This record gives sequence, C-alpha cells and structure tokens, in this order.
Amino acid sequence: MSRSRKPEWLKMRPPSGERFTEIKQTLRDHDLHTVCEEASCPNMGECWSGADGSAGTATFMLMGDRCSRGCNFCDVQTGGMETLDEDEPENVASAVTEIGLDYVVLTSVDRDDLEDQGAGHFAQTIREIKRRDPETLVEVLIPDFQGEPELVQKIIDAEPDVIAHNIETVERLQWPVRDRRAGYEQSLSVLEQAARESDAYTKTSVMLGVGEYHHEVYQTMRDLRSVGTDIVTFGQYLQPSRSHLEVSDFVHPDVFDTYQQIAEEELDFLYCASGPMVRSSYRAGELFVESVLRGEDAETARQRARGD
Ligand code: SF4
Repeated sequence: MSRSRKPEWLKMRPPSGERFTEIKQTLRDHDLHTVCEEASCPNMGECWSGADGSAGTATFMLMGDRCSRGCNFCDVQTGGMETLDEDEPENVASAVTEIGLDYVVLTSVDRDDLEDQGAGHFAQTIREIKRRDPETLVEVLIPDFQGEPELVQKIIDAEPDVIAHNIETVERLQWPVRDRRAGYEQSLSVLEQAARESDAYTKTSVMLGVGEYHHEVYQTMRDLRSVGTDIVTFGQYLQPSRSHLEVSDFVHPDVFDTYQQIAEEELDFLYCASGPMVRSSYRAGELFVESVLRGEDAETARQRARGD
C-alpha cells in the first residue's frame, strides 16, 4: 500500500512566503543545516512562516548533514560525515538572534565516529544561545549517545529547557525501523537519566503506520511514563523514497485522538501532541512548554497550545 494515494488528512500546501525566504537566507548566510530541510519535513512552510502567529521556528541540525547511522525511515544522508565546524555554536546563536526566535529547537545527526559523539559540541551550542539571551527557551532533540551516561550528562549540565529523545516506535519494531545501534531500553535509559538528573521537561516521539499494534503503543506509553517522560508526540510515518521503509498504514485521525486521550487522561503525561502531521518539533507542544515555563498552570497551557 506504500506510496499509494495519501488520504485527504495528509495533504499539505508547499512552503512559501516572505518569512520563509528570510529564514532560509539567514540559515544559508550562517552555513547552517536544519532537519526540516534534510528530512524533507512536510510542515516546513507552516513552521518557518510562523503561520501559528509565532516568530516562526526551524529546527537547527548540528554537526553536518550526514549521519553515522542509517535508520530505514529517515531521509538524512548516511556516511561521509563532515569535520565538525567549530564556529557552528556561535553561528547558530547568531542566527537565533537574527531570526528573532524565543523558542529554539536543536537536533543533530548521530556522530558515532567522534570520541564524545558530539555531546560537547551540542552542549556548547546550548550554552552559547543561553549566554546571549537567558530568556530564550531551548529544546534539544538528542541522539542516544549509545546510552553513555557521562555524554548524556554533558547535555543535562548545559541546562536546556526541554530534553527530547525519540524512541520512534514500539519495542518489537526497533529493528528494522531504526539503525541496529539504536534500541528500546537504551532510549528509555536516556529519557530516564534526563528526567532524574535535570529540571528540564522530557519528551519523546513515536511514529505510527510502521506496523505497530494498539496494545504495543499502549505498552510503549506506559514504559515512557515509568521513566518519567512528560511529553509524548504521535505522527504518521511518511516514506521519504522507495528505498526507505514502506508505510504499513495511514492511521486515521480518530486513532491519534484516542492516544492523546489515553496519554493525558489515563497515563498522566503532561502533554501529548497527536495527529497525522505532528512531528518531533511541529505543533509538538512548544506552545505548551513555553506557557508553563512562563508560569501558566498545565491545564491552561494545554488549552492555549490547542487553541481551545
Ligand atoms: S540517527 Fe537515524 S533518525 Fe537520526 S538522523 Fe541518523 S539516520 Fe536519521
């Protein structure tokens, strides 16, 4: 059924607009990458143009556009990693100021090829942004650093506001969905350490439509809560090319709504963003986090984030 006709609820308009062009130019001026572009995110137009009334947002991808891993769902290029750009932390912080972002999302490719797997470089970028404006909220979507606690601790010590790490799918499907160096327990241990050792909100994302069963998704939510994960997002997997993992099914929006209800009302996640077009950093609770970090109670923040 892969690459067959997408259902109506998955149709998105192409990126355009002045704000979109401005952000694109600033990124090029500072020689920066975004996961939006590298992973061909369908929401780029809306995010960059700030269609939700925000200043617009982009997810900076650190440490080059080539990953040391090859997950079967991901459109980022594998192998041939670049030498680290020592100026990147400063360049990202400059772009943040120029674009006028008050909520920044940082992610990176995996760099299993580096001694510290890039943890130091990632932490330095957080610190550089916070040094320029301590009010800027920083969400980081980090690799698993092969589950090495001292590397995860480098990120925690840089004090981002949200620490996200994606578990991506249910335990049974880790392979073949993710690279063999990734793993269910390893990802849970990263989230557990972040929840235990930091004041940051912890967050993860699960793709639907790769062959998971409802009971497996439910168990994954329970496992995530058992390690203190605050925020979970659910989005529809879309096949980037014929050489990537096939879509097993296009999950109906009602199913996404059901998972959101279970997550918040039964399992006490602080926030759950769930919908076919939801991605790790698209409509994924930034507004919620921003509201609670600026002093609002969780329920009011949820309503604000959903535009209720
Ligand atoms: S680790 Fe996997 S998901 Fe992340 S950028 Fe690399 S290939 Fe993509």
